[in-house]
Amino acid sequence: MAKKASVRDVRRTNRALLVRRLVLSGATSRSALGDDTGLSAATVTNVINELIDEAIVQEEGFLDSVGGRRRVVVAVNKAAAVVFGSDISEIDVTTEAFDLTLNRLARRTFAFPDRRITPERVIEVLHEQTSEILAELDIDRKIVLGLGLGVPGIVENPASASESVIHAPAIGWDSVRLRGLEDIVGFPVHVDNGAKTTTQAESWYGAARGSDHAIVVLIGASAGAGIVTNGRLYRGFSSSAGEWGHTKISLTGRQCICGSYGCVETFVGASAALHDWTQSEMTWAGRETEGITAMFAAIGAGDKEAERVMNTLVEHLGFALSNLINMYNPETIVVSGWFGDQLAEHYLDDIASASRRFSLEQPGSEAVLKRSKLGQNAVALGAATLPLDRFIEMGWPQ
Ligand SMILES: [Zn+2]
Repeated sequence: MAKKASVRDVRRTNRALLVRRLVLSGATSRSALGDDTGLSAATVTNVINELIDEAIVQEEGFLDSVGGRRRVVVAVNKAAAVVFGSDISEIDVTTEAFDLTLNRLARRTFAFPDRRITPERVIEVLHEQTSEILAELDIDRKIVLGLGLGVPGIVENPASASESVIHAPAIGWDSVRLRGLEDIVGFPVHVDNGAKTTTQAESWYGAARGSDHAIVVLIGASAGAGIVTNGRLYRGFSSSAGEWGHTKISLTGRQCICGSYGCVETFVGASAALHDWTQSEMTWAGRETEGITAMFAAIGAGDKEAERVMNTLVEHLGFALSNLINMYNPETIVVSGWFGDQLAEHYLDDIASASRRFSLEQPGSEAVLKRSKLGQNAVALGAATLPLDRFIEMGWPQ
């Protein structure tokens, strides 16, 4: 029995290697697949034929080759499956549908006020959004691989929604389980922290691609990070690792949403920037994106106070990143998130020079700061990689 299981494991591993290569890197020839994965020509042929029979892979024309023999190009059949990703942020629930190569097919957003939404309401919203998108795209539920959720907090047991326990004080959730969600939407649901889903998206498709030692910082109203070491996402004992936004860079300052003082996000989050600029907590609550747009416009128009606040924020961000650099020795740091992306657009060089100044010289000189390649909303895309990753490793959901 042991031998039988091991043959099956090898087959599954080989299949996963080839599907992953095709999903992440696109169309190629069978011989290039062999070169890329180290699998024998016979294994590649067998597995690819099996995938073609299942309509997961298809042949797409020819490559000209030097020896005169034309090589057949194989690629993932985009239409073979659909996957959903949802970004549950502090202000809205955005659900997107993607094809098998993660091209976006449709999108729905539901905004909620005062940074509060109940888990029951989130389940209803996710059901409405996925049902509407399936109807709009005229898609059979049978080809849906699942729904990935990125949430603004710590996720214990980040696997299926029924087993995950979510701690997200940013939206008022304390030890929440999304009970019944999978039965209601009708397909598997996987949950993880939004910074971690973004990190997976940046590793697969974005600015951290190809880097085995990368950190992705996600900066919005609050702040978080995903840490990749030796090519794997670092999770810690109960998956809370990466809560960089609540590491301390001061003994004083405003009280954080976590209850403590001196947290990174009270210095570098959009809410902090707006508070320091307007000297008011409430002016922009729930309208942070609008507020930051106004703040950048003010800087463009010569508002010295807005400029001073942003320069101070950039210094604090470099300070906070230097702690990550000294702790993890990253090769790449990606600055992402809706606010992080705007900071990177305007201040990437300043953030990099501040982070170098506060870091130890050697790791500081090695870490390269990059702007996200996935735009301001990579959380939903990253969330969609959760069921897609499961499909690559395990095949169709049971
Ligand atoms: Zn905190």
